Amino acid sequence: MQKRVLIAGFKHETNTFSQLPTTLDSYKARTLYYGDEVTTKMRRTKTEIAAFIDACERFDWQGVFPVYANATPSGKVTEDVFEHISNVILDSISDQGPFDGICLALHGAMVCSHVDDGEGELLHRIRHVIGPDVPIAMTLDLHANITDQMTALADIIVIYRTYPHIDQYEIANEAAQLMQRTLNGEIKPKTVMARAQMMDGLDHGRTTTPGPMTEVLLSAKTGTHSVPGVLSSNIACGFPWVDIHDTGPACVVVGDGNAPEFQELADKLIEEVWQSRHRITIAPISIEEAMERVLVVDKRPAPIVLADFADNPGGGAYGDGTRLLKAMIDADLQNAAFGTLYDPVAVQTCVRQGLGAHVVVAIGGKIDPKYGAPIPVTGRVVAITDGSLKLKGPMMAGTEIQMGPTVVIRVGGIDIVMASGRFQNYDTNFFEHANINPSEKDVLAVKSAHHFRAAYAPIASEVIVVDSGGGLTSRNYKELTYTKLRRPVFPLDLN
Ligand SMILES: [Zn+2]
Repeated sequence: MQKRVLIAGFKHETNTFSQLPTTLDSYKARTLYYGDEVTTKMRRTKTEIAAFIDACERFDWQGVFPVYANATPSGKVTEDVFEHISNVILDSISDQGPFDGICLALHGAMVCSHVDDGEGELLHRIRHVIGPDVPIAMTLDLHANITDQMTALADIIVIYRTYPHIDQYEIANEAAQLMQRTLNGEIKPKTVMARAQMMDGLDHGRTTTPGPMTEVLLSAKTGTHSVPGVLSSNIACGFPWVDIHDTGPACVVVGDGNAPEFQELADKLIEEVWQSRHRITIAPISIEEAMERVLVVDKRPAPIVLADFADNPGGGAYGDGTRLLKAMIDADLQNAAFGTLYDPVAVQTCVRQGLGAHVVVAIGGKIDPKYGAPIPVTGRVVAITDGSLKLKGPMMAGTEIQMGPTVVIRVGGIDIVMASGRFQNYDTNFFEHANINPSEKDVLAVKSAHHFRAAYAPIASEVIVVDSGGGLTSRNYKELTYTKLRRPVFPLDLN
């Protein structure tokens, strides 16, 4: 008989130090689809939901898709939003059930204004409706903070194994296959987890160069193949800018039934994580050093890419920090582009003046001037767009993005892409949609920590990661006040 599977996505990576609450508008600004729209919009994208859609065809599941919601990382998800989206899922389970299985595309670092463990709370409510026996499979981002509640309530957890995240489809495909085997009665999956006394580690999970993350992922793979009954071994590197009890790396093993070897494997993997804690493959440099490196060469065969690590909207930073941009303007860089600066007010000023206008305007630095004050600039509006673009990939190819009204203002030799929405620049279309050809620039600056590498490393002559101290995703954790985090932890208290 055809199996009925409920499939939903509710994602958020919460930076609890951000003052910007995550509202329904935050979801509308990124991705919020209900019902049939989920399949029409997400089919054939490189995402988890697309893999679940394909699984319905491959395994002849009758899929029900109540909602897919994803917002740019920011502050805590409001109670209203959590209740609304959870209830869409729960109502669908009640009204359209019974279901044989539940597949969820989540993040693993959602914190709400009323609940610290957003994913755990969602699972708890779902379990309350479906009972203990209906299998739940969930996919998580590699930057998840895994809680006991998540592993107790989900039967299958599969976590991205790439950063930049280019394997969302494959990860969900793996979760779907395990769900299918469960529905067939071949396996009875259970998850176990191990965590260390650390809130940051694994070199932020980077997989673009050999390092701690690639090594422990290899050990996890070996464990999956060598320990009988292990179905999937997963590593979360954690998301450090979250003040909750459980922040930090964790290892999750999905086993067939209960066997002590599964926990032993998780413990062995987390010990490797702990041993690797001091190893980093990329040390961000200061703005001053970065400018010196850029100015050393007059003309480059391909752009040098500067990553504004500390003000990465993809990690919940505001994306309007101005320290790096100001240094670039002061250095009078030529044939350069900067993207994307969040400033809806300055965008409106430029739009009102019109294409080609010379404008005098203060840009950026409006949310918290501690990370760089607004910069007064004189420039020319060289492009105005509606901020609509489709990602080219490799990350999330095919996904539609709406940044809202967007302009390019040319200040000296720098084309600054300024948008009404907060977006990490991890796709060349953030420039190209506004008629900037990134390959032809000598210098590109992106507000991104690492995801930008998927699209920009192939066209870059050099990549420089800059910690401008200009945002909420700086690695200076000791400057943040953690009150709920378990202590002692590395690197705050332990070495
Ligand atoms: Zn991530």
